[in-house]
Order: sequence, then structure tokens, then C-alpha cells
Amino acid sequence: MKRRIARFSQDEEGDWVAHLACGHRQHVRHNPPWIERPWVTTAEGRARVIGQVLACKACDEEAPANGPAPAADAPSQKTSPSSLQGTR
Ligand SMILES: [Zn+2]
Repeated sequence: MKRRIARFSQDEEGDWVAHLACGHRQHVRHNPPWIERPWVTTAEGRARVIGQVLACKACDEEAPANGPAPAADAPSQKTSPSSLQGTR
């Protein structure tokens, strides 16, 4: 599900988190060579993607908005690997 990026914040490890219009949050790490998002490290780069869309995996999974990452009590959906970020 494509959702607009409303704003950014940083988590306690300094990784950038996009806050989406749907209320979900998604990490947008710059972690080369696996994840190349050099723009996320600059204020200009982040400002440029505000209002653009990001594929929200949480919406695809119908996760509740603004909640922490679903823990072990999520109902029987253990088959999709979630280690790959946002290439869809
Ligand atoms: Zn969402």
C-alpha cells in the first residue's frame, strides 16, 4: 500500500523513521551497500521526500496504526520475510 510520508524522526539508534500518512512508521535506513538512501542523512533530502509515497508494509498486513512492531501474539503469519525493506 502506497502511503505519503508525513514527517521523519530518529529512533534511539539514530536510524531515520518515516511517519506515514496512514499512521504507520517505517525505517528508512541508509545502510550501504544493502540499502542506499544517502538522502535520508540530510535535512534537504528528507524534506524532498515529504509528501512522496512509500510502500507501507504495515498497511498491507493491516497492522494497527502507531503500534509497536507486532510481537509473538500476531496470528499465524510467519511466512513472509520482513528483513527486506521497501522494494515494492
Ligand atoms: Zn500504513
